[in-house]
Amino acid sequence: MFKAVLMPGANELEKIAAEIVTCVKCPLHKNRANAVPGEGNPRAEVMLIGEAPGAEEDKQGRPFVGAAGRLLNEALEKAGFSREEVFITNIVKCRPPRNRVPTEDERRACLPYLHRQLEVIKPKIICLLGRTPLETLIGPYSISKMRGRTIEKDGWLFFLTYHPAAAIYNPSLKEQFLKDIQKLRELIHRDERRRGSSLDEFL
Ligand code: SF4
Repeated sequence: MFKAVLMPGANELEKIAAEIVTCVKCPLHKNRANAVPGEGNPRAEVMLIGEAPGAEEDKQGRPFVGAAGRLLNEALEKAGFSREEVFITNIVKCRPPRNRVPTEDERRACLPYLHRQLEVIKPKIICLLGRTPLETLIGPYSISKMRGRTIEKDGWLFFLTYHPAAAIYNPSLKEQFLKDIQKLRELIHRDERRRGSSLDEFL
């Protein structure tokens, strides 16, 4: 009899997602319609991490499906990525009220899920979209100074760019955002991708 073969890592990611959708570890669970664990390829070379779900994501339970998601899709397509090839998630998995920035406590409560997703997927490059993932996973640096750069930290290689929502509110950033995602594509194919900048450069 035919048996479906799941991609390695898919079961572990489903288990993490099942925990997220019933999670009550921080107050953000109170107002959510749906938690948004993230989605994509369990063996993705590129993982993209945003800040938090917005209204449309909360409604659908899927990441980056609103206006910012459409710009992200455009950038990925232009660079030759498909959404199925990458994995997309956020620092916190439930929508903060009125899309405010998640608090430190909320981020701390939610981060173990992201760390587990990283350990399962083991991406070659982690693309941080905007200031909140940059501050949370690397430190209080300026996204405008660090965008388009790679940084090595804790054994992971990070690539920094703007959040697509920032590029919608400030159209002058859109071109830079599109270029950054193109560069991300090129990095995947280059041998020197493991040579990220030292954080000292940005102090
Ligand atoms: S944001 Fe994260 S920690 Fe908070 S309730 Fe949702 S899944 Fe749990």
